[in-house]
Amino acid sequence: MNYFSSNFKLGILGGGQLGKMLLNDTRKFDIYTCVLDISDEAPCKIASNEFYKGDLMDFKTVYNFGKKVDVLTIEIENINVDALEKLEHEGVKVYPSSKTLGIIQNKSKQKLFYIDHNLPTTPFSRFAYKDEILTAIKHETLRFPFVWKSAQFGYDGNGVKVIRTFSDLDDLPKGECITEELVDFKNELSVIVARNVSGETKVYPVVEMEFHPHANQVEYVICPARISKEIALKAELTALKTSAAFNHVGLLAVEMFLTKDDEILINEVAPRPHNSGHHTIETSYTSQFEQHLRAILNLPLGKTDSKVGGIMVNLVGEEGYNGDVVYQNIESIMEMDGVTPHIYGKKQTRPFRKMGHVTIINEDITEARKIAEKVKRTIKVISK
Ligand code: ADP
Repeated sequence: MNYFSSNFKLGILGGGQLGKMLLNDTRKFDIYTCVLDISDEAPCKIASNEFYKGDLMDFKTVYNFGKKVDVLTIEIENINVDALEKLEHEGVKVYPSSKTLGIIQNKSKQKLFYIDHNLPTTPFSRFAYKDEILTAIKHETLRFPFVWKSAQFGYDGNGVKVIRTFSDLDDLPKGECITEELVDFKNELSVIVARNVSGETKVYPVVEMEFHPHANQVEYVICPARISKEIALKAELTALKTSAAFNHVGLLAVEMFLTKDDEILINEVAPRPHNSGHHTIETSYTSQFEQHLRAILNLPLGKTDSKVGGIMVNLVGEEGYNGDVVYQNIESIMEMDGVTPHIYGKKQTRPFRKMGHVTIINEDITEARKIAEKVKRTIKVISK
């Protein structure tokens, strides 16, 4: 099939920053795109060929949008999967598949998938209602501390809470959830696997993720991870096995914990370009966004080696600021060597909202880490 400067249409469900970065590469290849998003101010709006406003969880909206395109992909997971399934039956190519998305949308189903496929994951329990947690604690089948996770619609750590006492349970939503053992991990790692329609598979180097202590959001992504070759290999093999188990097409980001005993446990997966792969725009031979296109269009995959070491810093809204965004001191960070800011195009900031990121490239990862901290201290996402 000819995708380049042709009548072919790629549909993207979701119009946020991941879509916007994907559109850099559809523009590079001159591939025609249609984007659907709930917001009229979605970052994708300016770069897509056709933009539609609509609810991604609404069956009719997703179905009607899907009928306009040849291949459909996502940049967000909360999509109406029944519509995707119907579109698949009617011949639209949907990557990731409705089946994969259905599993990933629900943390309880996702966990069971790992168990069924003999993939290592954190020990967990499933609960249909929050109140069942209280019963489990009373019967001593569940003990403090543990991690509570909403089964559905959590993202960027907002459906996750460490529970140490009864009072920590007070403000939680009442619905379906899981609890996990609190892992005392050494490191959080992520591996992105790319797999095209024919099954050609490539894996990006393992990265290390450092999290914000309170917000549960990634603060720094470090590539390559500062781990031994043996552990890197173990993480890569786990990620490859996971991608194969899903029979996945496109990118699959596999987030893992490295325990104190050097055990690898899968935390969760994302079937799309991922925050832990943003650095690839500057560090890799093939950015994750170009690779995602290659994979879903069944083109040859690009080389995944890094040209240089890199660190990504998320730019999130400062606490205490809401309103029209200002990137304070952006010029100062642009004076630093190897520093590139990416601004997503969201006009309004609020505390911890992901507004952009900064990539720092350097031959020496220790030096890059120092510059990353300086970047973090210097640039502030505030309001007017
Ligand atoms: P989300 O889907 O919102 O990204 P995650 O399940 O990835 O949520 O959890 C967010 C973060 O919370 C993780 O990256 C990790 O830092 C912490 N976390 C999650 N599960 C556990 C666990 N079982 N033990 C310790 N920390 C955890």
